[in-house]
Amino acid sequence: MSWAVIGTWRMSLKGTEKAMEILRSGGSAADACTEAASIVEDDPHFHSVGYSGLPNEDGHVQLDAGFMDGDTLHFGAVGCLEGFRSPIRVARSLADRKYNNFLVGQGAAQYAAANAFEKRINETEDSMNAYNKEKGKNSPLSSYDGHDTVCFLAIDNDGHMAAAVSTSGLFMKANGRVGDSALIGNGYYVDSSIGGACATGLGEDIMKGSLSHTIYMKMKDGTSAKDAAAVSVQQLHAELMKRQNYAGGIAAIALDRSGSYGVGTNEPFAFTFASDQTPACTYFADAENGSTKIHVYQDTDPALD
Ligand code: ASP
Repeated sequence: MSWAVIGTWRMSLKGTEKAMEILRSGGSAADACTEAASIVEDDPHFHSVGYSGLPNEDGHVQLDAGFMDGDTLHFGAVGCLEGFRSPIRVARSLADRKYNNFLVGQGAAQYAAANAFEKRINETEDSMNAYNKEKGKNSPLSSYDGHDTVCFLAIDNDGHMAAAVSTSGLFMKANGRVGDSALIGNGYYVDSSIGGACATGLGEDIMKGSLSHTIYMKMKDGTSAKDAAAVSVQQLHAELMKRQNYAGGIAAIALDRSGSYGVGTNEPFAFTFASDQTPACTYFADAENGSTKIHVYQDTDPALD
């Protein structure tokens, strides 16, 4: 068996390298994805995940995260979690329960405190500067730019697969808003017997296509990870354009049980990948004439988080 890991945006590189270390030494896909997402959550340089995330309209960093185990299909998720260090660890800890796998807001915080998860104030000077600058503008609060989600999908040496996603969601989002990232089938879905997918971009539009589950179902029907991701994003984009005359930025990654990956996007998108055959590397993807073009990330490419 071989191992592989794929992550969204440039910010995933350190996480992919960490996952690589874990997978290379025989660790599980679940640990690889969790540790990878957690490293990104801890890094204050990335402003759309965890510590130093983007505040909501009230100036609070409310975090969403989801975890899925591809063997059992168990999942755990938190939405609008405030005041804790690692939403992905909290999400994962909810995955093996029969009920109550997805907790939000105060309930999620109560659970995290009761289970001794490390507390942390995630609002930093940088987060609050961004917030105050936006709030100071005369126009209504509508800055939905600058968001991104870190997503990881991995397969380990024993063929187990897992997914982990973490985000602060849309900048200036409404208090209590939960996006696609924490929602199974939307921000993530993985089944070790087939493969999995994760999404990033405008959550409200991703949810209209249940994007990760749609990609997974195509793979289940025999489509390659490459085509499943590219075609599903194109189809969702076209459907959104037809019905609402606009489509938010949407990107998705897919990984199958043989370690082959796919990417779909309707905007410039960066991702990272590593496997037992390929060293960790950052790639750039963009939609071109109905297909997804990919090359190794170059300095001349836009600085995508
Ligand atoms: N999908 C995330 C959300 O809507 C944001 C992103 O990935 O850019 O919360």
